[in-house]
Amino acid sequence: MGLTGIQILGKLPKKNCKECGYPTCMAFAMKVAAGQAEITACPYVDPKVVEEIAEATAPPIRTVKLGSGDYTYSLGGEVVLFRHEKRFENPPPLGTYISSAMEEEEISRRLSLYKNLQWDRVGVKLQPEIVFLTEAGRNSKFMDLVKRVREELPHVALIMEGSTASLEKAISLCGDFKPLLYGATKENLEDITSLALDAKVPLTIVAKSLDELSELAERALQKGLKDLVLDPGSRGVRELFEDLVIIRRSAIKKRYKPFGFPVITFPYRYAEDYFSESLLAGLLIAKYASVIVLSDLKAESLFNLLVERMNIFTDPQKPLVVEEGIYPVNGPDEYSPVVITCNFALTYFIVNGEIESSRVPTWLLIKNTDGLSVLTAWAAGKFGADSIAEFVKRCGIEQKVKHRKLEIPGYLAGIKGELEEELPDWEIIVGPREASGLPALLKRVYAELQEMKKAS
Ligand code: SF4
Repeated sequence: MGLTGIQILGKLPKKNCKECGYPTCMAFAMKVAAGQAEITACPYVDPKVVEEIAEATAPPIRTVKLGSGDYTYSLGGEVVLFRHEKRFENPPPLGTYISSAMEEEEISRRLSLYKNLQWDRVGVKLQPEIVFLTEAGRNSKFMDLVKRVREELPHVALIMEGSTASLEKAISLCGDFKPLLYGATKENLEDITSLALDAKVPLTIVAKSLDELSELAERALQKGLKDLVLDPGSRGVRELFEDLVIIRRSAIKKRYKPFGFPVITFPYRYAEDYFSESLLAGLLIAKYASVIVLSDLKAESLFNLLVERMNIFTDPQKPLVVEEGIYPVNGPDEYSPVVITCNFALTYFIVNGEIESSRVPTWLLIKNTDGLSVLTAWAAGKFGADSIAEFVKRCGIEQKVKHRKLEIPGYLAGIKGELEEELPDWEIIVGPREASGLPALLKRVYAELQEMKKAS
């Protein structure tokens, strides 16, 4: 059972010194109880109490970290079964495998995919973050592969499978960049657990059934290894899905320790083609994979999976937003149309997409409405004439254009007069209600502005 804020407060020194970043010990205790602050942020708590509180407030699924510094990836750390109950915490890293037995050409192809398949979406970088390296054949080739991946893909976390002796050497090649070892089985559990303990790296337990998985995880825990990842070794899609649900339910509802760890999955084991594999990977993002290893990286599938992941691992209580500011679309200049809308991400994507497809150089003004859509923001007083006028004056668009034509969303037609009073130098153009009508309007306004440019 977790501790309440009051129980945690009782264990704090109550100096109210603010060194933890919170105004009072009480505020800090409440945040720790809610899982929004680490007890270690208070430098005055006795280490024994730190351990006690950390244990009592730890999520039922342990957070296991890979990599280091800017490239630290957290697996697990989940506290709910369903996203709407709170939120899912740590998005499962995606990637593919590389075997040291592969031809040089294939290894290079796979490495280059990691460098090329990267996208920027709402200011978030989407890319594959893990690679599963397998030792096959000569030990030296595996070491070369590990070195090469570390050099060429410094941002990618490593999962490594090989003999215990090879894994020991490979860990030393990673320095402080923490890899995940794969996999402890009935046969090698003792040796590989000792290696993981000595090297302080996480270890994957690989079993043929949930009973075996539980037994092996229990043994690893008894040896003192706390950072585990589970591979239930399911034999079919249905069994995999059932196993993942059982593991998650046992950990969260029953606090069953041996299953309180992230789970690694390999959708290609259950799929006949890449399309089916991608569909299954999509399912696993939602329920309940912590790491997903694909057979290959293909842009058309990977992008969709990363976007799905981004959406599922957002906080459902907070709307997805884009930053307030001026967004140039299609290379605008001083005589390009100016369009304003709210910062609800979906609205931004739709409006931006329509402007891009129109090919009209345009300045897109995004005003912060706390992620509310146009009409809701207007109703909430966040997108009315006064606040739009204030933003237009403040954002710097008046220095970027030589005209004064501002296009507002069609749903705001009712504030046109009021906005003209607030912005007397500007001509307010009421746009279409649906963004699909934007290209036609932009082309007309652009033509007018080009005439103005010629005349100037
Ligand atoms: S640092 Fe510790 S003592 Fe100081 S306010 Fe925070 S919780 Fe209280």
